[in-house]
Amino acid sequence: MKCMFCKIVNREISSEIIYEDDKIMAFYDINPQAPVHVLVIPRKHIASIAELEEDDCAVMGHLMVKISELITSLGLAGRGVRIVNNCLAEAGQSVFHIHFHVLGGRFFTWPPG
Ligand code: 5GP
Ligand code: ZN
Repeated sequence: MKCMFCKIVNREISSEIIYEDDKIMAFYDINPQAPVHVLVIPRKHIASIAELEEDDCAVMGHLMVKISELITSLGLAGRGVRIVNNCLAEAGQSVFHIHFHVLGGRFFTWPPG
């Protein structure tokens, strides 16, 4: 069975997409943990950061630049964002397709729980 985020990429399940191109997609988290909570994913299925390979550099570099652009388009430039990747089970990863949480619109504490 294909993973949940591959289904979002293939539009087999709907989501509120705010950006997409040939390499990545960004959409709102279904269970937001902050006033702004966006997930940014590579279109390619890669289970976690622990599985990244050298060939993924272009996609992942592109993804980071698009997160930077999203900070501005989401109105968070000059304020702050918490960018989170939960990698593997002990870190709390529940969907095994790489995704970065981009959270903003409130203050965050450190260390995280
Ligand atoms: P993780 O726990 O793996 O770091 O994060 C998975 C995130 O995916 C969670 O914040 C969860 O709310 C979100 N999520 C799970 N299923 C869906 C879905 O079908 N649509 C959207 N938009 N978000 C989802
Ligand atoms: Zn996937």
